[in-house]
Amino acid sequence: MGTQDGNGQREDNDLPFNGPTEWYPYHCLACDCKMWVEDIIVDAFPPDGPGKCPIVCCPECGRDFVMDIEKETLMSETDPN
Ligand SMILES: [Zn+2]
Repeated sequence: MGTQDGNGQREDNDLPFNGPTEWYPYHCLACDCKMWVEDIIVDAFPPDGPGKCPIVCCPECGRDFVMDIEKETLMSETDPN
């Protein structure tokens, strides 16, 4: 895949801000809500969920919203949701 650093873990401050960012496939454990979550959000919380990604709140019901580890992340310059 076309990632620049290969592991997605490094923080490169010299990356141009207008380049593509990484989006993580998230889904709710309580309802059917699915949404892409941008890496800047994922990096802002402790990595205590599946795929070393944080558990955040579902935008629909407020329950646990976790990364879908069976899917691949997406590089996109725009909001894929
Ligand atoms: Zn939900």
